[in-house]
Amino acid sequence: MRYERSSSLFINAQNSIPGGVNSPVRAFKSVGGHPIFMRSAKGAYLIDADGNTYVDYINSWGPQILGHAHAPVIEAIKKTAEKGTSFGTPTELETQIAELVCSMVPYVDQIRMVNSGTEACMSAIRLARGYTGKEKIIKFAGCYHGHSDSFLIQAGSGAVTFGTPSSPGVTQGTAKDTLLARYNDLASTSSMLEANEGEVAAIIVEPVAGNMGCIPPQPGFLKGLRTLATKHNVLLVFDEVMTGFRLSEGGASTLYGITPDLVCFGKVIGGGLPVGAFAGPREIMSHLAPSGPVYQAGTLSGNPLAMSAGLAMLSELHEKPKIYDQLAVLGRVLAQDISTALNERSVVHQINQVGSMLSVHLCEGPVKDFDSAKAGDNERFKALFHHMLSQGIYLPPSAYESWFLCACLDDSTHNRTVEAFRSFR
Ligand SMILES: *Cc1c(COP(=O)(O)O)cnc(C)c1O
Repeated sequence: MRYERSSSLFINAQNSIPGGVNSPVRAFKSVGGHPIFMRSAKGAYLIDADGNTYVDYINSWGPQILGHAHAPVIEAIKKTAEKGTSFGTPTELETQIAELVCSMVPYVDQIRMVNSGTEACMSAIRLARGYTGKEKIIKFAGCYHGHSDSFLIQAGSGAVTFGTPSSPGVTQGTAKDTLLARYNDLASTSSMLEANEGEVAAIIVEPVAGNMGCIPPQPGFLKGLRTLATKHNVLLVFDEVMTGFRLSEGGASTLYGITPDLVCFGKVIGGGLPVGAFAGPREIMSHLAPSGPVYQAGTLSGNPLAMSAGLAMLSELHEKPKIYDQLAVLGRVLAQDISTALNERSVVHQINQVGSMLSVHLCEGPVKDFDSAKAGDNERFKALFHHMLSQGIYLPPSAYESWFLCACLDDSTHNRTVEAFRSFR
């Protein structure tokens, strides 16, 4: 494949955009080489600036669960755009999507729309703090909740120490309110709660972790968190930005049968436009301005284009819930066949898969938390990534990202993918 146009576009972009991209993982830093600039996409395929076609396993990092340029979503956006793109007033569309979400996610009475997953998590934590009157939060190493200050915290030496900022610009003052526990480790959470009794507002967790590869919760983990949160009078916040409307209509909480106090959405909820949201029972949500004292606002929140795209997407998922079973089968078969292909080549690996989320780790496994995810062979992953790219298979350009499957994948994309794995050396 030739990437001449992509390469020259990237060189140009670096002049006027830091690093040439508007979000770091797009830059191929962890796999090396120049990022591929895309021109268009349709169904399961991406088409780049040089005209190369790829089977896409990112799907815009999650939103395109029904495939790219899905006709009902595009139609809804066009129809709405003709009537004007933003009014700064309430519109009926906002209530329609709110009611739909309330009907799809059982424990949600009210929802507030924002413009990204980052905003959703940041605002949910403010609400949790305002509601409980407490300041600290517990997060899990390797879980990503967007780029706001409180969440950019890395593990210190021990699980019970205060976090240290993982980016310049995050203050020590902010970092000290974020406590770090180990994913799939209830004991670390429990001792942290005990050591900070009366000070913790919320535990925030990805119910299926998707930002250190795909890491399922071990049996009892989410249930244990629920019990601990209730016992210590702490809100349990599920960050379902990735898993919401992807793993089931009601997200991971429905899949695992655990009810959080607040939930954050993003990605699928916007149908490919910039949307995030946080939601929960009326009792908590009513503390939000203007009905309550916890301030939160947004000029473009609930934007009509974004709401119409999200509404079209969620309506279809709600009408055809079988899609989730089909995607889960697709994921299972893909995981099995990739594993067989890698075994043929004697590549040591571990595949984690939940529904339409999947990750291939080049280590012996099991991969169940951030430390075990880091044990993967990154050099080998780079080689795998570039091999797959050369075969027209677009994987996430990092060993720490989950793949996202879409409903447009078929036998042809499946065979092409498995063949590409078979020729990896
Ligand atoms: C993507 C993601 C976010 C951040 O969403 P943005 O829209 O990129 O700000 C937050 N939490 C999780 C679990 C995510 O996967």
